[in-house]
Amino acid sequence: MDTAHLIELEEKWGARNYLPLDVVLTRGQGIWVWDNDGKQYLDCLSAYSAVNQGHCHPRILAAMNRQAEKLTLVSRAFRHDQLGPFYEEVCALTGSHSVLPMNSGAEAVETAIKAVRKWGYENKNVPGDKAEIIVCANNFHGRTLTIISFSSEPQYKEGFGPFTPGFITIPFGDITALKNAITPNTVAFLAEPIQGEGGVIIPPKGFLKKARALCDEHNILMVLDEIQTGLGRTGKLFAEEHEGVEADITLVGKALSGGFYPVSAVLSNRQALAVFHPGDHGSTFGGNPLACAVAREALKVIVEEGLIENSAAMGDYFQNELKKFDSPLIKEVRGRGLLIGVELIAEAGGARKFCEALMREGMLCKETHQHILRLAPPLIIQKENIDWALERLHTVFKNAA
Ligand SMILES: *Cc1c(COP(=O)(O)O)cnc(C)c1O
Repeated sequence: MDTAHLIELEEKWGARNYLPLDVVLTRGQGIWVWDNDGKQYLDCLSAYSAVNQGHCHPRILAAMNRQAEKLTLVSRAFRHDQLGPFYEEVCALTGSHSVLPMNSGAEAVETAIKAVRKWGYENKNVPGDKAEIIVCANNFHGRTLTIISFSSEPQYKEGFGPFTPGFITIPFGDITALKNAITPNTVAFLAEPIQGEGGVIIPPKGFLKKARALCDEHNILMVLDEIQTGLGRTGKLFAEEHEGVEADITLVGKALSGGFYPVSAVLSNRQALAVFHPGDHGSTFGGNPLACAVAREALKVIVEEGLIENSAAMGDYFQNELKKFDSPLIKEVRGRGLLIGVELIAEAGGARKFCEALMREGMLCKETHQHILRLAPPLIIQKENIDWALERLHTVFKNAA
């Protein structure tokens, strides 16, 4: 089918809740994807960090095929042979004590919210329906109603009320505000260690450490959403490690399956997940055999192929080279590992047109907020590929200046 027709079908039949670049992809391998006309692109979004391992990774593909031929879904009404090993392996890798598997990232966030509320009622004597969770402005935790209830992005909320109460918002990185927001009813502090969708925003040094100390002091659970920053993206297994902190609950998703399948999980270091008793919470697909087999292999690939170390090394290289750009359009280059934001000045006319220009040069990126270009290629990327990307970026910035 020709490309124009494929786009037309999407526009005719689909809800218009996205405004994608007009590239119709048909194939992916490693860091590369190909469109319907055979043109090749370097993927610098990695499906919002879901394909950290690269597209169609052969080991994960083989694991998926093997499992798909054996058993895909039994529901949690019965046990199956992939669940226990997945639990053990994910806990061993992440230093967790307990895990609850879900599917999408938003479901993992919702699950954590349920867990910390119940934990507060059972362990802190918070009066019924009074639990408070402190969250950060400019957050992104997903799109369900409860989650958008504490978004600070007007477009995410407009027309969707009424909203779920029980959330207190502080400015991201403001430790005094966090301290002042704590009440006897505070059960948790929920944040991204680095705000991804918010524009690759890194909190001031020491913020997470001080937040950890406040949580300990006031018996509050620290919940870190590492759905985008986790599993090697920032050059560590988890972004929290950059500050040497350990959350009570860590949320993972996206790259947990290497992009093959929606798999997310709530990882708990303490007894927060112990509040769940049979029947309290569930999901038909959560923790299914196919998901577990895929996730087990996706995690092994991250470790055995050295993707965390490569993310750190290549991220440093990419960021340093970008900082050498002398374009007047660039306000700041920032990031950790291969989660990189290039903030443009307001006069640059928005990051979207840079994404469109880069697409013509064979590079796929997505703007985040209006003025930030996010560069987040698969973690298997090599130096020569980054040099290739830098040439394209040079061309685009030169032409735009
Ligand atoms: C993508 C993302 C989510 C939501 O994940 P979905 O699978 O899209 O529901 C939540 N938190 C963060 C930080 C994310 O980047």
